[in-house]
Amino acid sequence: MNVADSLRVASALERIGYRPTPRAEQADVIVLNTCVVRQSAEDKAYGRLSSLRPLKAARPDLVINLMGCLVGVKGHDRLKARFPFVDVFSPPSDPGPLVAHLTQGETRLLDQAETEQRFLAMDGDLTLPLDERGKLVATHVPVVLGCSHACTFCIIPYRRGVERSRPVGEIIAEIRVLVAQGVKEVTLLGQIVDRYGKDIPDGPSLAGLLRLAQEVDGLERIRFLTSHPNWMNDELLQTVAELPKVMPHIEVPVQAGDDAVLAQMHRGYTADDYRRLVERIRQRIPGVSIATDIIAGFPGESDARFQRTYNLLDELKLDVAHLARYSTRPGTVAERRMHDNVPEVEKWRRFRALEELQEGIAAEISARYLGENVEVLFEEKVRGRWRGRTPTNKLVFLESDQDLRGRLRNVTITWTGPWSMQATLPGQPQFIQPVEMLTLAS
Ligand code: SF4
Repeated sequence: MNVADSLRVASALERIGYRPTPRAEQADVIVLNTCVVRQSAEDKAYGRLSSLRPLKAARPDLVINLMGCLVGVKGHDRLKARFPFVDVFSPPSDPGPLVAHLTQGETRLLDQAETEQRFLAMDGDLTLPLDERGKLVATHVPVVLGCSHACTFCIIPYRRGVERSRPVGEIIAEIRVLVAQGVKEVTLLGQIVDRYGKDIPDGPSLAGLLRLAQEVDGLERIRFLTSHPNWMNDELLQTVAELPKVMPHIEVPVQAGDDAVLAQMHRGYTADDYRRLVERIRQRIPGVSIATDIIAGFPGESDARFQRTYNLLDELKLDVAHLARYSTRPGTVAERRMHDNVPEVEKWRRFRALEELQEGIAAEISARYLGENVEVLFEEKVRGRWRGRTPTNKLVFLESDQDLRGRLRNVTITWTGPWSMQATLPGQPQFIQPVEMLTLAS
């Protein structure tokens, strides 16, 4: 979501004449877009913000904009007192306050609310920043902003506000513009993306939105994330199975495999519900890949409860598990009502146990691709190798002198590891993965 928000800010700044610079020291405006979903992200944001203080001291005309979840949607008086050198504070997804600040000389007759209104109206024609046009192959399009669920560990509803769906026409217009600028793949974003349209009377559901996006000429692939187990209905699964541009990849977090922990998290489902959902997804979408999220060390997670999470991951053999160690987020229900009673060292142990387990599962799943022909959309060249993704979102590297940016190619998988694969184009000599020398003892 933050990557999408940053693109939106860059695009808004370009419209009023700004251009990117490679170094912060050369900039007239610095936007620090922040995440606070975990303590480590928040610490990083504060560290980066403090590192900007000397730049502002040396050049008082430099404009510093703090944006995103650190600011939130409910005012920023405390931040202002702590970081007086910040000129503008912006809530997530909103370039309006910065643009109003930068253009205040020219728009003396407009107050900030009017300027923001104008930007809201312009949201539908997002253009990519110049240096991304024709280069960016895959990008994100927010479709649902905020979240109205109340998972006890989560800070997002407090920082990104209540759930609201963007109008369908605005989303499709934005996708068309992105495609005209070279984008081939879009990922539709929402904290619970499956709830798209629930707040728009007579508006389409996510399935309906996918059908409309499918019709956009020149768009090759569509993905969406993140799903919630309670909102993935059969209509949606059927639509993913039917539409050729919608990729068979589902991101649906379980967070824990123990019912007591899930109840404490206020997730609204049980481990068995999640098992049945995975079965349903696999039945309806052949060859689907599934990613999940898990938090290790939630308050009250005993050894036995953790073991149930471990066992669930082992049993379901999902393609990807995004793992996190629990950290208390100020202002959440968990912070107010629960005791963070799993020692840090134990959180790490559980995290590593899950990580090791998932590495084995991912390696096993990837190995099934060996020798297979798969279609890959190539995005960019990284250190001499093209990087792309399969329909199931597996990362593929390929060595070639051809320009493959934005190209869909059938390739042969020649090597697999847990996190990536190596491939060749048809007729291309095989890349030989270096192997360790074996020394045989006599
Ligand atoms: S569904 Fe729960 S975890 Fe996801 S953003 Fe909303 S409150 Fe946070």
